[in-house]
Amino acid sequence: MSYSSMEVAVRLTRRNHNAFVHLLAALESQGYDLSNILVTKDLNEIVKAKPKVVLYSFYSQEVDEVKKEVEILKEKINPILVAGGYHAIAMPKHTLNVLGFDIAVIGEGEETLYRLLTSLKKSNYKITKELTDIKGLAFYLGERFFFTGFAKVEDFWKFPPYPEGLKLISPMEISRGCPFGCYYCQTPYAKGFRMRHRPIDQIVKYSRRMKDMRYITPNAFAYGSPGGILKVEKVEALLRALQPLRKEGRRLFYGTFPSEVRPDFVTRETLELLVKYTDTKRIAIGAQSGDNAMLKAMHRLHKVEHVINAVELSLEYGLEPVVDFIVGLPNESPESQKKSIELMKWIMRKGGKVRAHYFMPLPGTPWARCKPSPLSNEMKKFLGRMAAEGKIEGSWGVQINISRRLQKLMEEFYEEPMSYHGKVKMLC
Ligand code: SF4
Repeated sequence: MSYSSMEVAVRLTRRNHNAFVHLLAALESQGYDLSNILVTKDLNEIVKAKPKVVLYSFYSQEVDEVKKEVEILKEKINPILVAGGYHAIAMPKHTLNVLGFDIAVIGEGEETLYRLLTSLKKSNYKITKELTDIKGLAFYLGERFFFTGFAKVEDFWKFPPYPEGLKLISPMEISRGCPFGCYYCQTPYAKGFRMRHRPIDQIVKYSRRMKDMRYITPNAFAYGSPGGILKVEKVEALLRALQPLRKEGRRLFYGTFPSEVRPDFVTRETLELLVKYTDTKRIAIGAQSGDNAMLKAMHRLHKVEHVINAVELSLEYGLEPVVDFIVGLPNESPESQKKSIELMKWIMRKGGKVRAHYFMPLPGTPWARCKPSPLSNEMKKFLGRMAAEGKIEGSWGVQINISRRLQKLMEEFYEEPMSYHGKVKMLC
């Protein structure tokens, strides 16, 4: 297939790779011919191919880089530019008016994208009134702004995770949505508060394609449950069903990169499953703060005691806990930060690892308009020292700058975000 026959291009990046693998599979399974799509990480290749449509998916943290690419594409080939992902959902007007996209996909994109691409082909790649019939789009027709409603794909597993027509593989999305509603997190507002799961037989069928079996889920131990409670028998059924694939030589990683687990789901029962059925050596646990008042303020719905218990149990079962923290949370006092330092130190002393992140006000979350708190001198010194000694992972340093850029973005371009549930309550 020559480049010139490709009418659609996907701008693949490290960060949107997994999402596009799943989306391309969904397009194909609805009958879309993938040989019509150029999938590439190379912007020059897109320019050379001169497609009629270019698909992007990105986070708010990436908007500056995306804007530059949009300018290049507009100048050189002027395609229809379509944006999906968390930023487009939370800030469609910014995506269209400022970044320069023609269409924003709002919500879960599997069906919307199929309908959009089919409709655009029919109209010979023009933005027409027909698009107002497709749920999940925001765009302008002349001066008039249209939003056709938030697209939901309740049973997302009706689409396979991997395309047949393209050699693309990624960790598999097995669960979607989260009921916890932590105030800094976009997941529940973009994917819903109820967790849904890919069925076990489908997970097994497609896991065969992976060398190392890895999964995408907001909370790996919530598999099979609406999300808020542990259904250990469901997790066990899944892991047990994957055993024949392990015997064929694949390694099975669960509750670790690229997913994580909530500390209140780390129990003897869940850890026994990891040890018995998986090759997991490190378990990724979201702690976020060492201060119960802060955990309450951010709506984490677990306590420091859960983190301590999760770390102790993980070590007892021979797993290395890798524990995530967010520093500089809104209204976080030096005393609160001291409590986080104490907990981080305790985790490292015990033999666990810490990953530190700086608070980033993400559009589409209740804390989108909140300001980070300055880091206390003690926190700065502690993180600096630990990073120099290679004891702390995480990108808190670069995130300070990204956080600043996000605050500016919210100050200049704040708009009411689109959400799975209607309104997102702004808490700052
Ligand atoms: S941070 Fe994790 S537990 Fe909290 S809402 Fe997001 S996905 Fe759910």
